Amino acid sequence: MNNQLDALMDRAVEFINEYDNIFICSHVQPDGDNIGSTLALYMAIKKKKENVKVVKTDEIPSDYLFLPNIQVFKEYSLDEQVDLFISLDSSDVERLGPGKELLKKAKKIINIDHHVTNNGFGDINIVLPSTSATGEIVYKFIKHMNAEIDKDIATCLYTAISTDTGRFMYSNTTYETHLIASELLKTGIDINNINIHLYQNRSMERTKLFLEAINNMDFHLDGKIGIAVVTQDMLSRNNAKLEDSEGIVSFIRDTSTIEVACLLKEISEKEIKVSLRSKQHVDVSKIALNFGGGGHIRAAGCTIYDTIDNAKKVVLDEILKCFR
Ligand code: 5GP
Ligand code: MN
Repeated sequence: MNNQLDALMDRAVEFINEYDNIFICSHVQPDGDNIGSTLALYMAIKKKKENVKVVKTDEIPSDYLFLPNIQVFKEYSLDEQVDLFISLDSSDVERLGPGKELLKKAKKIINIDHHVTNNGFGDINIVLPSTSATGEIVYKFIKHMNAEIDKDIATCLYTAISTDTGRFMYSNTTYETHLIASELLKTGIDINNINIHLYQNRSMERTKLFLEAINNMDFHLDGKIGIAVVTQDMLSRNNAKLEDSEGIVSFIRDTSTIEVACLLKEISEKEIKVSLRSKQHVDVSKIALNFGGGGHIRAAGCTIYDTIDNAKKVVLDEILKCFR
């Protein structure tokens, strides 16, 4: 496996050396792993190549605005010449949103990801579902490039790994995750500052939205399933943004009886973003795949194009099937 991984990384490094106009693309509703990995790889490539750009496909949540070089996230028109396109943390091209059109123009595509549902859309696919975060793979890749992991790169990779492992707690956290984190700490990053930005910076609006969602959630199957919703009405009532729903679904999972937690977010009247989490037994990536989404065994998501009430019914039906 390691030889195979080395060979894949060798080829990817060759592509980076060979091609000039390099675009690294984030996914829609970007999270800490996506943003952190993207910035880290951008900085590493920038040490060697001039023409590397970062494609913004959605708003950057305010939690991540403290990251070094965050201003490189920009929108690009289709007039751009795209030689090499690098996708990070996306299991399919739909996740890239408007970035998909730039991908279509690329001469070559590198797909680096850790989702078990990744469909291998790249010319080179470095997909390692056993890793906790795309940030872990990018750490290895930057080492493979022989680029120095400086403090700024380490700050971004630490953010990627810490957020995708639920602060090193989820079941995807391994011995290697901790080894990498320890190497990142060696560079002298300020983890107190990083942790304050990531986890101790909650706005009052977010707290109020959280309380309303939790107060109105419902339980099924003796509390094994918990479902909450965030509607547009709730957002405006609390003066909150969609990104403020971060953390609700994992809080529901923390309830002792819960095996599957679900949050439905109303993007618009007939577009519902579904977040799924499980604790020990249910593979929620399969539920998400049923609705054209994807993810991991214990954390997955999809979009349902229907009203929030209908979406809730069909998702609950699918979850219930997992308990039969
Ligand atoms: P979240 O619930 O935090 O939005 O996402 C949980 C996990 O599922 C993440 O790893 C995310 O990448 C994945 N995921 C969420 N929504 C989608 C989707 O619509 N399509 C795919 N392929 N993966 C998703
Ligand atoms: Mn990830």
